[in-house]
Amino acid sequence: MSSPVPFNALRPGADTAAVRAAIDRVIASGWFVLGPEVEAFEAEFAAASQAPYAVGVGTGTDAITLILRALDIGPGDEVITPPLSAAYSALAVMMAGARPVFADIDPERLTLDPRAAEAAITPRTKAILPVHLYGQAADMRAFEALASRHNLALVEDAAQAQLATADGRAVGTIGIAGATSFYPTKNLGALGDAGAVITRDAQLAARIKRLRNGGQTSRYHHVEAGANSRLDEMQAAILRARLPYLAAWTARRRAIAAQYRAARVPASVAVPREFDSGHVYHLFPVLTSNRDAFQAHCTAHGVETLIHYPVPIPRQPALAATNPAMCPVGDRICAEVVSLPMYPALSDEQVAAVSRAFSSFSPPAA
Ligand SMILES: *Cc1c(COP(=O)(O)O)cnc(C)c1O
Repeated sequence: MSSPVPFNALRPGADTAAVRAAIDRVIASGWFVLGPEVEAFEAEFAAASQAPYAVGVGTGTDAITLILRALDIGPGDEVITPPLSAAYSALAVMMAGARPVFADIDPERLTLDPRAAEAAITPRTKAILPVHLYGQAADMRAFEALASRHNLALVEDAAQAQLATADGRAVGTIGIAGATSFYPTKNLGALGDAGAVITRDAQLAARIKRLRNGGQTSRYHHVEAGANSRLDEMQAAILRARLPYLAAWTARRRAIAAQYRAARVPASVAVPREFDSGHVYHLFPVLTSNRDAFQAHCTAHGVETLIHYPVPIPRQPALAATNPAMCPVGDRICAEVVSLPMYPALSDEQVAAVSRAFSSFSPPAA
């Protein structure tokens, strides 16, 4: 049976004409890396994010790495981060030369637990990197207090949380800086790789602009060993074309989430509660200890599901050597979590089909 509800739909929709016009504009300009489109996008994205500064970079991973490098965090330093996220959150710490230290997640909010984070602080700790997972902010009041009490940098991984707020405050502007990603599946996606840093700190923004471009101060004068992580004009122009749609797309995601939440919750399944009305629903995860049966049931009803994420980051072979910390909540959630389709192009009929498939699940007899 072909799937009437695919997990995602990435082809541009109502924005197609605007995206095509943007591409044509860049082709006609003959200017392809770090130019007027990037500058304009940085200004427009900063405004949309309620941040004074935005700096376009190559990927969301690079955005995290460059923030850490701009804060002079590197070899010998530790950064506290959760076990449940895209592995890139922790890989970015390693790319900066620092060591990711994992602290467990809150079992209900599914984001980094401030108490676990505090317990993981050592004399080498330089920063805390909470992830606004699935589109919902981490407990930023607690992290602000924690960071100031221990004199640590608070860096936000906002890759899944464009336009999200925490207690009414824009994510990415609460700590010293926020990293975001425009990977095509993200709430604001490019047609390729792209990322950005947002910050309130002018000096930090300037240092990241230098670091993304080989550490140059002026052409061919490299004052530090920077990275090559520039946002190109094509992706910037495409992002400019799509940014005006983001608020409506976000509203649609929230409306779909409300529909899913109105559906009957079957036995042995739990729907994580919404802690903040600023949740932008990058994903819609549910929890079940009968995950294989649940996914098979959804597939049989034509609904594609995916797991975010099946392996806790500290249990990845690539990272296991760095930190043997145990995160039992992260382990359990990785074993139970499964995502329902969540994207603005879902039709009302598709949303109803997902709700029906979800509600009609019954766990196999034990
Ligand atoms: C997507 C993502 C990243 C990495 O972004 P890229 O643009 O793919 O490098 C980092 N952290 C989180 C939470 C993400 O979802």
